[in-house]
Amino acid sequence: NRQIVIAELPTDALTPAHFKETTTDMPKAGDGQVVLKVILMSIDAANRSWMKGATYRAAVNAGDPMPTYAICEVIETKSDRLAVGDIVAAEATWSDYIVAEARKCEKLPKVPELSNLMSVYGIAGKTAFHGLISVGKPIAGETVLVSAAAGSVGGYVGQIAKALGCRVVGIAGGADKCKWVKEEMGFDDCIDYRAPGLGKALRAACPDGVDVYFDNVGGAVLETALFSMNEKGRIVCCGAISQYDTETPTGPRNLPGLVVVKRLRMEGFIVMDWAHDDAKALRALQTWVANGQIKVTEDIVEGLENAPQALIGLLAGENKGKRMVRVAAD
Ligand code: NDP
Repeated sequence: NRQIVIAELPTDALTPAHFKETTTDMPKAGDGQVVLKVILMSIDAANRSWMKGATYRAAVNAGDPMPTYAICEVIETKSDRLAVGDIVAAEATWSDYIVAEARKCEKLPKVPELSNLMSVYGIAGKTAFHGLISVGKPIAGETVLVSAAAGSVGGYVGQIAKALGCRVVGIAGGADKCKWVKEEMGFDDCIDYRAPGLGKALRAACPDGVDVYFDNVGGAVLETALFSMNEKGRIVCCGAISQYDTETPTGPRNLPGLVVVKRLRMEGFIVMDWAHDDAKALRALQTWVANGQIKVTEDIVEGLENAPQALIGLLAGENKGKRMVRVAAD
C-alpha cells in the first residue's frame, strides 16, 4: 500500500522535496470499519493551507500522509452499513488503500462518470452554489465578478451566475485562460490579473460596477476589486489562494476603509455549513448541466505518485476546471 507523506513542512513555495512516498502494510478493517480502495482524490488549494497550521481542520504535520477528500470503493467490510463494491465518498489520505469508519463514509449513487461526483456534483459545484446564492445573493441584472475563474469553483460560480441572469466577469491568469473562460465557460468578459492595469481593466469590464465579488484568491486582486464594488455590494470570501503558498502574505490595505464607505458586506463561508441545502444545490446543478447552461470541466492527473506535482501545479495555475488524481480505475 503506497502512501505519500509530508517529508518536511514548507516554509515558502511548495516543492516535490516536501513529500515522500512510503509503503505501509495493507490496512485491515476493525468492527464498524471498512477498507477502501482509493479511486479519485480531490486536489485542492486547501491542501496547501492545511500545511500552515490548524484551520477548520487539524494541521497537517511532517510525517503525516496528506489528507484528502476521495471517492473510493469498499473492498472489505465489518459494518452492516456498507457492502463490498459500494462506492463512497470519504476523508482519506494520499494512499492506494485506507481504513475508515463506515458511519463516516457517504454512499454515492451509481453514475456514468464518477469524476462528476467530485467536480460539478461534488465540493466544487456545491461551494459555488452555496457561496454564490446563499452568501452572495445575486439578483438578475447585477454584475458578478469572480477570481480564479478558470478554476474549479470559479468556473461554476460564473456559469451559475450567468444562468441566474447576471453579467459575469472573471479574473484569471494569462490571456489563454481568459479566452477559454469567455469562449468555453460563456463569461461576458475575463481579465488577466497577471497583466498590468487590473483596476483599469476591471472598470472597463464592469461599467456598472460590481455587485457581488466571489473571492477565491484574496491579496492584491481583492485589494483592487474593492475599488470596483458598488455601494451595498457583497464580497463572498471563499478562499485566499494567493496567500497559501507563501510566508510573505500581502493583504488588502484598503480594509476596512472601503467596506465602511461603500457599506459592503464581506462574509466567509465553508461549504459544509450549507450541507442542509445540498439536495437543492444538486437538483439545480443537474438541471443546468442537462440544459447546457453548465459545462463540466475536469482536469484529471493519472497516478498517486503524481499527486505532489498535481498540487504544486494547481498552485501555479496549471489547471482548467476541477483538478483530481486518479489512483485506480473505477
Ligand atoms: P482552482 O481549481 O480554482 O485552482 C486554483 C487556481 O487559483 C489556479 O488554477 C490559479 O489560476 C489560481 N491562483 C493560484 N495562485 C494565485 C494567485 N497568487 N493569485 C490569484 N490566483 C491564483 O481551485 P479550487 O476551485 O479548488 O479552489 C478555489 C478557491 O476556493 C480556493 O481559494 C479554495 O481554498 C476555495 N475553496 C473554499 C471552500 C469553502 O468551503 N470555502 C471549498 C472549496 C474550495 P490562475 O491561473 O488564474 O492564477
